[in-house]
Amino acid sequence: MKTNAIRIHEFGGPEVLTWEDVDLADPAEGEAQIRHTAIGLNLIDTYHRTGLYPMDLPTGLGSEAAGVIETVGAGVTDVAVGDRVVYTGRPADAYSERRNFDASRLVHIPDKLSDKVAAAILLKGLTAWYLLRRSYRVQKDDPILLYAAAGGVGSLASQWAQQLGATVIGVVSTNDKAELARSQGCDHIIMADEDIAASVKELTAGRGVAAVYDSVGRDTFMASLDSLRPHGTMVTFGNASGPVEPFAPSELAKRGSLYVTRPILYDFIGSREQLLSACDELFEFVSSANVEVRIGQTYALKDAARAHQDIEARKTTGSTVLLP
Ligand code: NDP
Repeated sequence: MKTNAIRIHEFGGPEVLTWEDVDLADPAEGEAQIRHTAIGLNLIDTYHRTGLYPMDLPTGLGSEAAGVIETVGAGVTDVAVGDRVVYTGRPADAYSERRNFDASRLVHIPDKLSDKVAAAILLKGLTAWYLLRRSYRVQKDDPILLYAAAGGVGSLASQWAQQLGATVIGVVSTNDKAELARSQGCDHIIMADEDIAASVKELTAGRGVAAVYDSVGRDTFMASLDSLRPHGTMVTFGNASGPVEPFAPSELAKRGSLYVTRPILYDFIGSREQLLSACDELFEFVSSANVEVRIGQTYALKDAARAHQDIEARKTTGSTVLLP
């Protein structure tokens, strides 16, 4: 059959995204065919588009979507035709009206969540989960520093960290984002153009934070190390400003025997059991009182280029969803 999808034939700016009519085979053994109803946009999609994270060309884009199963291949037992499911993973082909995907990586959407919300939270919410529950396990009363606090991962992570009893210091670039981040769990705000380490020291009576969750990368890495207390943990998990430059381990010694980790989500949800148990925690978190899943903006799937422009220009807040 035929379907419509966004594809790229070369790496580059948002203009390389093209809306195409593509062939879609029947699902192979172990696969399900999904009709997408909502697709999650992630900053990582822009790293795939530019080639920062290289992929073989031509390729689709997108690592997260929700939808309904229309057919299944041989040997599929985890899901059935008609099920509402959500997934995150490769191959990156979520920017499409229909696709085939490994059925063992599909997660049933709880009745109380809409497809739009499921597509808005899976990749970003599981990231917030492993950051706070695995990379550095947040303890009650820990002060932590979180960049892009009004963004997709940030708005979920700040609310989750607050629920865990942390004191959350969020970094944002505009006053509107500051107001939003405050309403979503940040106890303190530092503006992105301030001296971040100095402001952190001021807010923590000179001690520094227990952990930094840094998704900005190159521009903030050293300021983040300078913001940690002795034995603190630096979790560097994104490249919004570019990849972190190589650094000498002695930089960690100088600042008090620091720890650094550079995690990726898929190492925390490798098996189906890990995936489902992480999703249970995530769905319980988003269903709890006072948690707001903020879908700051939606776009038609075929306008994905505009969504890429906006997220790269720091114009988006919360999650972004593309609608087929
Ligand atoms: P966001 O919605 O958070 O958008 C990115 C935000 O980064 C912007 O809104 C902006 O917030 C901030 N930012 C700071 N510097 C820049 C810059 N130079 N250019 C653009 N944005 C900048 O995106 P996502 O929620 O999709 O992802 C957040 C981060 O988490 C990304 O870096 C992503 O790569 C990373 N990530 C990592 C994963 C992993 O497993 N390692 C998994 C998922 C996401 P402000 O204007 O307030 O500074």
